[in-house]
Amino acid sequence: MSSRIPELYRDAGKAILAKALPKLVGQPSAILSDRKRFDDLLVSPVWAELPLPCRLLGRKRLGWDLLFDQIRVAVYDGSGPTIKMRADAAARVTEAFRATVLEVAARLNVAAPASSIVAGSGSAAGLKAAAGKTSAGKSAGPGSSAKPAGNPDVAIGIDLGTTFSAVAWIDADGRPVAFENSTGDLITPSVVYFEDEGTIVGKEAARVALVEPDRVAECAKRDMGKKHYRKPLNGEMVPPEVISSIILRSLKADAERRLGPVTQAVITGPAYFDEPRRQATINAGKLAGLDVLDIINEPTAAAISYGYQKGFFHRETGAVDKPMKVLVYDLGGGTFDVTILSIEGQNFTVVATDGDVTLGGKDWDQQLVDFAAEKFQAEHGEDPRKTPTSLQDLFAAAEQAKRALTERTRTTMIVTHAGKRSKIDVTRQDFEDATAALLLRTRHTCKEVLRASNLQWSNIDRIVLVGGSTRMPQVAAMLEELSPGSQVDRSLSPDLAVAHGAAIYADVILKRKKAGSSKFKLIDVNSHSLGIVGIEPSTMQKINHVLIPKNTHLPHRVTQGFKLAKAGQKGVRIEVLEGESRQPKSCTAVGTAIVSDLPENLPLGTSIDITYEYEPNGRLHVAAKLRDHNGVFRITFERENSLKEDDFGVWSEYVAHESRRMLE
Ligand code: ADP
Ligand code: MG
Repeated sequence: MSSRIPELYRDAGKAILAKALPKLVGQPSAILSDRKRFDDLLVSPVWAELPLPCRLLGRKRLGWDLLFDQIRVAVYDGSGPTIKMRADAAARVTEAFRATVLEVAARLNVAAPASSIVAGSGSAAGLKAAAGKTSAGKSAGPGSSAKPAGNPDVAIGIDLGTTFSAVAWIDADGRPVAFENSTGDLITPSVVYFEDEGTIVGKEAARVALVEPDRVAECAKRDMGKKHYRKPLNGEMVPPEVISSIILRSLKADAERRLGPVTQAVITGPAYFDEPRRQATINAGKLAGLDVLDIINEPTAAAISYGYQKGFFHRETGAVDKPMKVLVYDLGGGTFDVTILSIEGQNFTVVATDGDVTLGGKDWDQQLVDFAAEKFQAEHGEDPRKTPTSLQDLFAAAEQAKRALTERTRTTMIVTHAGKRSKIDVTRQDFEDATAALLLRTRHTCKEVLRASNLQWSNIDRIVLVGGSTRMPQVAAMLEELSPGSQVDRSLSPDLAVAHGAAIYADVILKRKKAGSSKFKLIDVNSHSLGIVGIEPSTMQKINHVLIPKNTHLPHRVTQGFKLAKAGQKGVRIEVLEGESRQPKSCTAVGTAIVSDLPENLPLGTSIDITYEYEPNGRLHVAAKLRDHNGVFRITFERENSLKEDDFGVWSEYVAHESRRMLE
């Protein structure tokens, strides 16, 4: 597959057209002048078959309708009562594409692949043959997908948040510093607007969400690891990692405005992310043109930031700090993590972690939305949640009210819907009552993680708060009540601590590469148990058989033996799961390990050892070995929902196109 979007557009478009154009032959000629019928029968169905990255660029930018204006008169003969195809249709389609692809290339600001246009041979059949060929034109023009060489001495740390993201680096004085975005803010809403002319990230996108919700992606991080973002954007189902990569591109551009080209980065993710979500995060980084040095957990990054702030990175060798046990409580916009670490100088060891990837400030907003919507309904008999734009407005008003209630004990929400308006008073007490169950969930998770770490509250030296939602007074109050004796510490920036920690860690990696060693040591854990689907002999039911329990120090590997059930068996299929339940259905399907091409005539009961290995960052590898045999065979690990490697080139090009304006 060609990796340049104009070429992809031309090649795929021609191939699909070759099949579609003859469909109009024999139909009434009137169709050619009836714009709507022509559109319904040909233009829109063919558009729907184009590859997604092309469609996402939009019909307007690709000059799609323009192309059909040319095709309509150039390809069909409508002089009789029914439509005929002209003899030189293929050449004419090629010519029409040549003209529009040049246009597209100019508009997308890329080197045009015009020289490599394949000429048709003059018949509809020839069109088919020509359409199959692809060109080799791959000049490294300004739109080339070739990675720009970044400064090898610089790496950035990126906090890719559900609601807000931030990017930081270690400046010349050795301090973590966050970059301003183009609107002058240190944090950027993780919101992407897919407008006809390209994508927009941040505040402006969040503003547009109020008027055009069906073109705006918010909280895409909640869908990482799934095939698609939860709803269509501009009519298309988009992979969440593509949305995240557009945000990453924008953050990279913010750093590059100050630093020049940078490619090396550490990206953070929630500790409670499962493996597919970690993989999706790495993929998003790659699509954004980043060289992902590592991914680390957000609470771990915050703890590193805490250690830095306490001066642990500046002590001379030999100065030993008293070990500290720290609990990081990270409540953001869409995820909740709690992690207990032991910090001893520059040694960071995670003891236990737990969390909820679908709990955050948004859920607190939702409670206020419901509170206000019910009051509105009682007054006007209509539910503002039923209309997407009213619902968006309501969410914005709720978020504002929530922030106000952090400062004050009462506030007012204005709700307008269907020409009616309500002024709704909310007290902090109302808000706390409405959200008590959510806070209780975080309390329960804190207790769980303490239990898993075999510690008492009296062993916890500090409870460190991170994430914007920890500004709500109810959070610190709950933690103080829960942990008498521990100190609740608000000294870190709830918004920037994670990006700072990622930047410190990125810098450690660079220095370690140069020096070959480093005083810094980080040991994390897996946040989910790793298992495989097995059969319970007594019931013959499928069960999740755990191989690596959660909270195991990483890296960790485990080998499990399997016996061939049949003589001469050629392959083995192993389903890999993450989760605590015995029911495979309640666990996350990570993927399937497939052993194939086993040597001929293996006897019944032959042993195969499958090794699962978690990297230090929680990424999984699978390997296999035949016991007592040296035969060659293959093992592949097919991931659920993962973006196909083949599509990477085109997607990264799409992301690069979309982001070009960010650097202007
Ligand atoms: P994430 O990392 O998940 O993107 P952040 O840590 O940036 O999230 O936190 C964003 C959340 O914090 C949002 O839900 C936002 O409403 C909430 N938040 C920010 N400031 C306040 C405040 N002053 N009071 C209450 N909530 C706040
Ligand atoms: Mg965060």
